[in-house]
Amino acid sequence: MEDVFGFMDDLGPDKVLHISLCRVGLKAVVVVDNTACGPAVGGVRMAPDVTTEEARRLARAMTFKNAAAGLPHGGGKSVIFADPKMPPGDKEQLIRAFATAIADLKEYVPGPDMGTDELAMGWVQDEIGRAVGLPRELGGIPLDELGATGFGLAVAVDVASKAINLDLRGARVAVQGFGAVGKHAARFLAGKGCLLVACSDSHGTVSSADGLDVAALIALKDAGKSVTDFPNGTKADAEAIIDVPCDIWIPAARPDVLNKDNAGRLKARIIAQGANIPCTAEAEALLEARGVLILPDFVVNAGGVICAAMEYHGGNETMAFAAIEEKIRRNTALVIEKSHSAGISTREAAIGMATERIWNARRTRRWR
Ligand code: NAD
Repeated sequence: MEDVFGFMDDLGPDKVLHISLCRVGLKAVVVVDNTACGPAVGGVRMAPDVTTEEARRLARAMTFKNAAAGLPHGGGKSVIFADPKMPPGDKEQLIRAFATAIADLKEYVPGPDMGTDELAMGWVQDEIGRAVGLPRELGGIPLDELGATGFGLAVAVDVASKAINLDLRGARVAVQGFGAVGKHAARFLAGKGCLLVACSDSHGTVSSADGLDVAALIALKDAGKSVTDFPNGTKADAEAIIDVPCDIWIPAARPDVLNKDNAGRLKARIIAQGANIPCTAEAEALLEARGVLILPDFVVNAGGVICAAMEYHGGNETMAFAAIEEKIRRNTALVIEKSHSAGISTREAAIGMATERIWNARRTRRWR
């Protein structure tokens, strides 16, 4: 039994709910971290190997992300401890059982995450009438298909490039993880004149100093192939993406990919964090000391959750993209400006901004 009180601080978690329904083999945990700004929104992750502590860290990241984006939502996360590749009928039963178990936990609004998708959220909505990231037929906005997070990253890079006098026309971009986030970030940045010089997936890296054809690479990935199947460019292993000379480096794959051992190899001027917690604290300090501008994850990868919140409040695709543009443009500028004026890291500036919003919201609350 993990010590659930050991990781409490003055922001949360508000509630940690452990669920065990033996009859259907459901084991799950829900962390409602903080609800000062409103009901907690956060994904339902289905994975066999996530700990309650990890769920707590992910829920806190959502608290900061939602507050930083100025959404009327707190942060939460849940984990169903199971293999997401189980037979579809079993998965539906498990997710429906999970939904009924959280029916009364009204301060938590579930969304899709690793191992769950729009269809799963449709089942949750069907059971308890409360979910975001729904199928289009139920009023959902398909944020991964549209590239909501990649769009927000491109907006943030636009702001950052002006702060360091980098002309985006011809600026070299490398993307680690050419999935829903990475491929759309590459597409929107190409639309601003950037050159994709490298991208990677779990199979390896493809690079070309002359630039790669973004549309052709996306078509390849959508056909279920790897970027290493691309006919042009130089192929290397997945780790090689770190060594490619570029102006903008976008981690969009896994946590902690940049650490104290490999961060020194990076040759970029901007790191736009598409993935959640892609750099260790040591790596961020090392890079910032070298003058690399770090755009913190929960500020610049909020496009997806902004889109989900717009959906929840009855907005459409156009309104969602306008909100992403406006919020991420403003917040990226605020964070860079605060970091310069106060002589602190961009992450410290971002945490300060989010925490201030949470404390301001708290003044209106009785208990939270
Ligand atoms: P995805 O599964 O669509 O894509 C992930 C990609 O990363 C895949 O192409 C995979 O092959 C690649 N990958 C895995 N391991 C790799 C490695 N070691 N090196 C290089 N590539 C590797 O996932 P996604 O939705 O694009 O999410 C990517 C990351 O961004 C995740 O950490 C996710 O939590 C985070 N995130 C996603 C969203 C969103 O809107 N989808 C929003 C915020 C944060």
